[in-house]
Amino acid sequence: MRINNDEYSIAIDDFLLRMESIPSETHPDTQLALDKLGQLLHIALAKLDFYDTPLEERKNNGNSHIMYRNGDPDMSRFFQQREMTGVGNVVIYTIYSQIGCDPWSDEELEKLRVLVKTIFVFHGRIRTMRLAEFLTFYDKELKIHNLTYFMKHTGQIITQGRIGDFAAAFFNLSNFSAVNQQLGRERGTEIMLSFIQQLAADFTEDEIVCRVGGDNFVTLFLKSHLDYVMNHFKGIEINLPDATRSKVVVSAAAGYYMIPADCKTSTDIMDCISAASNIARNLSKESFVFYDEQLKQRVTESKIIQDLFPEAIRKQEFQVYYQPKVDISKNRIIGSEALCRWFHDGTMIMPGRFIPILEQSKAICALDFYMLEHVCMDIQKWLKEGLPVVKVSVNLSRCHFGDMNLLQDILDIIDKYSVPHEYIEIELTETTTDVSFRDLKRIVYGLQKQGISTAIDDFGIGYSSLNLLRELPWDILKIDRSFLAEKPEAPEQNHVMLKHIIAMAQEMGIQCIVEGVESPDQVKLLKENNCYYVQGFLFDKPLTRDVYESRLSRLSK
Ligand code: C2E
Ligand code: MG
Ligand code: MG
Repeated sequence: MRINNDEYSIAIDDFLLRMESIPSETHPDTQLALDKLGQLLHIALAKLDFYDTPLEERKNNGNSHIMYRNGDPDMSRFFQQREMTGVGNVVIYTIYSQIGCDPWSDEELEKLRVLVKTIFVFHGRIRTMRLAEFLTFYDKELKIHNLTYFMKHTGQIITQGRIGDFAAAFFNLSNFSAVNQQLGRERGTEIMLSFIQQLAADFTEDEIVCRVGGDNFVTLFLKSHLDYVMNHFKGIEINLPDATRSKVVVSAAAGYYMIPADCKTSTDIMDCISAASNIARNLSKESFVFYDEQLKQRVTESKIIQDLFPEAIRKQEFQVYYQPKVDISKNRIIGSEALCRWFHDGTMIMPGRFIPILEQSKAICALDFYMLEHVCMDIQKWLKEGLPVVKVSVNLSRCHFGDMNLLQDILDIIDKYSVPHEYIEIELTETTTDVSFRDLKRIVYGLQKQGISTAIDDFGIGYSSLNLLRELPWDILKIDRSFLAEKPEAPEQNHVMLKHIIAMAQEMGIQCIVEGVESPDQVKLLKENNCYYVQGFLFDKPLTRDVYESRLSRLSK
């Protein structure tokens, strides 16, 4: 049968035009696109079989999809073409003739060949677009949306004028590196995905959860779902994949923002939730924080401090204050702690206001080295002047962990001023993650090898304390001052913990010092428990260098 060329070119135009806007290989509009050509070429059925690889093709393990159907096919008369994509997928197109028609002529077969090739090219383009979209908007590991998608999606909702119905949160899974460490990364990822999928289970189409990276995520949800989301983040039980009916509890620290209707951009939303989440993770006792006016002020202050810091350190606005440590059995200074004070525009700023902010970036590391250097300069001077120098402890933030040069940098500073190592002690705080635990171990052992003593600071208020004590060769245990507090509501429990910690440390051969001693009663209590080293306002507040110097000179008398 001959084909009318005019009809054919109209049919081809129609086909090309319609295929142009088809978004997927399986879209029902393919039927419409093939309609005119299908009739001209008396096609009854056009299908495609997709195999990931030739091996899957041999195993006949693929997906089949019918693109076009018109009447009953003659199953004995078909045209088949096998195509391979650039990445090795196999696509087999099969076209069946209608029952009772003449066999396809050579000209018709050639047209079928061109038709299949054209469909294959369109499908290739769809696959490329899908891949491009996947790479742009999806997280490759979890195969959920990413931050770029969050920005695009919230932007659309803002444009539609519906953003006032929504809230957003930036959340970080709590202690997730410990989960990864214990169960392996692969199972960790499955658990993470399960936590996300359960959160999104009841979400509507407009509500989304997107991965920012690592164990950080953002979510946009309806304000009416706030309780549900907050409950989820408080912690849910997740069954361990494969195993033994065991479960882990996964929770998250989150920063929330109840988005106002006049919010202009998705960047504003992102700024608010990341600021709130930062505070929820680092500075807040609670594991959630809402962005509000007060927080806005904190963020502004935090930004001011971060901006002022580089100039302040250059201008040496930071000063070392020394707080003596006392042996109460002899009433004698046995050491001191170097504490930082910032003098800016004539006012003294206490470390509580700036250290946690500097700890959000690496700025704290520069400050710690600055403090160590000034302490070493002072000790060098005192030694030259013949003062009876005692050991000075310097605080080192946990932000240094992971810095492979840390040990060498510490030694370089101490040796630059020829300070004998026995005059320096480094105070470190407890750590929760396994990665930083490894770093901590490396540093404590390294310092010990160099004759620099190490103290574990604020002992008892963090986590993993026992492990930390057992596994590292600490010289000093600094017991947090909260253990001295009277508990009127439970007098029989008063100081029980304190007694046990002191006894335990002594058994392990670690020297104890108690921080925050403010009253003679507390001194009496410590003496009763054979703990003689203390640091506290009862003896001295942190002193300026000059006052401390005169304290030292009195020691020799
Ligand atoms: P910390 O290392 O535990 O230092 C002890 C803190 O307790 C000091 O507060 C000290 O003034 C205070 N303190 C000592 N005795 C008493 C007492 O009897 N009663 C009360 N209520 N408080 C007492 P400060 O100087 O405000 O420092 C606070 C924290 O800031 C320090 O706690 C330390 O974690 C951090 N810090 C201070 N200087 C530095 C530094 O140079 N580098 C780093 N990384 N952190 C520092
Ligand atoms: Mg300290
Ligand atoms: Mg302390």
